[in-house]
Amino acid sequence: MNSFAASQQYFNRAADKLDLSPALRKVLSLPNREVTVQIPIEMDNGRIEVLTGYRVQHNRARGPMKGGLRYHPQVDIDEVRTLAALMTWKTAVVNIPYGGAKGGVTVDARSLSKREKERITRKFIDEIHMVIGPDIDIPAPDMGTGHEEMAWIMSQYSKYHGFNPGVVTGKPVEHYGIPGREEATGRGVGILTFKLLSRMGKKIAGTTIAIQGFGNVGSHTAKFLAEGDAKIVAISDHTGAYYRKNGIDVMDALRYAREHNGLLLGYDKGEALTNEALLELPVDVLIPAAIGGVITAENAPRIKAKMIIEAANDPIRFEADALLEAAGVTILPDVLANSGGVTVSYFEWAQNRQFYKWSLDRVRQELDRLLGTAFEEVWERSQQAKVSLRTSAFMIAIERVARATTLAGLT
Ligand code: NAD
Repeated sequence: MNSFAASQQYFNRAADKLDLSPALRKVLSLPNREVTVQIPIEMDNGRIEVLTGYRVQHNRARGPMKGGLRYHPQVDIDEVRTLAALMTWKTAVVNIPYGGAKGGVTVDARSLSKREKERITRKFIDEIHMVIGPDIDIPAPDMGTGHEEMAWIMSQYSKYHGFNPGVVTGKPVEHYGIPGREEATGRGVGILTFKLLSRMGKKIAGTTIAIQGFGNVGSHTAKFLAEGDAKIVAISDHTGAYYRKNGIDVMDALRYAREHNGLLLGYDKGEALTNEALLELPVDVLIPAAIGGVITAENAPRIKAKMIIEAANDPIRFEADALLEAAGVTILPDVLANSGGVTVSYFEWAQNRQFYKWSLDRVRQELDRLLGTAFEEVWERSQQAKVSLRTSAFMIAIERVARATTLAGLT
């Protein structure tokens, strides 16, 4: 089964519990528009490479579509479709006025020079500028992209449509970005982890946590949780994992990564492990914060954590989700867990449209407020309907999108 069909199972499970007409159900489950483009670029060595780029716009019932842009070798239409649908549910769960979209280019961002990345990004925008825009579809960073790519997107889009910083979020702070966007997803994961621990009657101090991925999301999550007194016992990136029973000094690991090209490779203040072994450590909380599909029916029975926070998108396969639920593991689903990023992107977009600058304090305060409300709604619904937090989040999201679709009129 492809990943879109697999992730549709989460939608179907929640939709079965709601009273949706067959037509509405079809409208909500399928993407609104899909664009695939060719990106021929000249590499620094003169060779011509022909890459493929995608933008999938899943649903626009609640507002302009919103979603990241991923540069990764595994990007294909199926993955982009899956992630675009997730964005529709995510923006609805956290109740910001957006629909869902996602984009990607099939390329290994780590193998590219800065000039190559710029050429790819500008060429990609040449091909999709007519289907994006501040009122249509607003890209943002995801794996393999960051504030530089977002600045190039704004610049390239503006060549066609006039100056418009609201076409993209995640821009550099000094170039129409917003303070706190870079930390937002990880900070949100941290805030929600603490809320879940508290709802489950657990103390933060001494709670042991393993985090997979030490990029934007993983590193900010680790920092926020460590500052809040949790014990981060394992961290990792694609080069390997590191475990220390008494807790990793996160600030030291961050410094190490900064000094070593962003990587943990060679970090010697913890026992070296594989990424697979990290997932199976005896910890209280496991936080996958790297790629999708890392927890499968095969390794799920060996997972020992009682709580999993899905910082990454789609890290748990559907069959594994059922096994973990049966084993009593509480899963905070991606559509809520990593929604801090899109929430602060919303603040950035609002700021751009008003030409009014927000302070970091205001960003953090509003983020806390929106995530706090979303968490309580998802928690309450799961208690009332006696369903998992994932099904509860999907039920709330589907209801909101269905209501907007019906109010606007289906035809
Ligand atoms: P990133 O590129 O900054 O970092 C990714 C990290 O994962 C790196 O440390 C990398 O080494 C590691 N990694 C890559 N492949 C791996 C593998 N096979 N095994 C273990 N580690 C591996 O990306 P990011 O922005 O931190 O995104 C991480 C996840 O969070 C993705 O699933 C993304 O979709 C999701 N997400 C990101 C944001 C955001 O604002 N950046 C928002 C919502 C969700």
